[in-house]
Amino acid sequence: MTGVTARVPAKVNLQLAVGSPRADGFHDLVTVFHAVSLFDQVTVKPAARDAVTVTGEDVGRVPVGQDNLALRAVAALRAAVPDGATGTRGVQVTIAKRIPVAAGLAGGSADAAAALVACNQLWATGLSQQQLCEVGATVGSDVAFALLGGTAVGRGRGEQLTPALVPATQYHWVLAFADGQLATPEVFTALDRLRASRGGRGGKVSPQEQGGRGGDRPPGRTPPGLDASLMSALRAGDARLVGSRLSNDLQPAALSLFPALRKTLAAGLELGALGALVAGSGPTCAFLAASAERALELAVAMSGAGVCRSVARVTGPAPGAAVVSAQT
Ligand code: ATP
Repeated sequence: MTGVTARVPAKVNLQLAVGSPRADGFHDLVTVFHAVSLFDQVTVKPAARDAVTVTGEDVGRVPVGQDNLALRAVAALRAAVPDGATGTRGVQVTIAKRIPVAAGLAGGSADAAAALVACNQLWATGLSQQQLCEVGATVGSDVAFALLGGTAVGRGRGEQLTPALVPATQYHWVLAFADGQLATPEVFTALDRLRASRGGRGGKVSPQEQGGRGGDRPPGRTPPGLDASLMSALRAGDARLVGSRLSNDLQPAALSLFPALRKTLAAGLELGALGALVAGSGPTCAFLAASAERALELAVAMSGAGVCRSVARVTGPAPGAAVVSAQT
């Protein structure tokens, strides 16, 4: 085989509940991942040594050395299979990026997942999805979900996954991309700071901090819990109910670091979104629409409102990382 190309989706979190920092510095999470139809493509080819090139969205912001998550995934898979199984000495990875970088959409983890499925085919290593998830979890917390796709509950750092048993309802989303990035560790640090400063007033999030409907779970020291109302809305396939239950504990922190997002969230809700929230650690905002037509209207109106850099219409749930073509 001379090359394999895999496609992989971005994700939004329909719920992102964040606990206290753990001894290892990470936070315990309970999250409902939802893959959406914004895809990166990753091609792998045999080469003398591992290398990566990137084309498309935010090219200049993607590391092209061993820090690249796709290259780290290649190395992790190589280490996980018997010597000699990988056939060639190196892999040339080419990433066609459409998922904006440091946007809360887990694009780096997505590329790692795509590299895993592509190399698994290139090398004919035959690992199961479960085995690839285990390798992926050593590369990043969101890699396992990018392999799985669909809608799934994540626990721990997000890598312990349970697929959500929900009907095949298609949800229509508008993503509003921001003019800027947020670094995930900084958003978690800002959340810890906000929670510490709120200690004196019962841990309540003020409406100013809140900025929209997402993230209304009272923060605290208790372990985060799954939102049963969101899960029953998903089981009912009721977009209106799902929209009313979107929540993200990181949202107040993202808004404190990127205040312009308040206007973006408010504009989308005023323009008829069923629900709105900051995607993951932000700064992308996600808006749920009642139908494909409403999503188109919302996307047009959001572009005209001058509250974001650009918009994309996507649907969810989308399938996880999968090979789309193989060259022989
Ligand atoms: P998270 O997955 O923590 O929510 P994010 O979605 O906000 O993160 P990513 O697009 O995954 O952000 O990028 C986070 C950082 O990872 C980038 O700033 C970049 O330095 C690094 N990175 C490494 N490999 C990649 C890759 N293949 N694509 C994008 N970013 C990468």
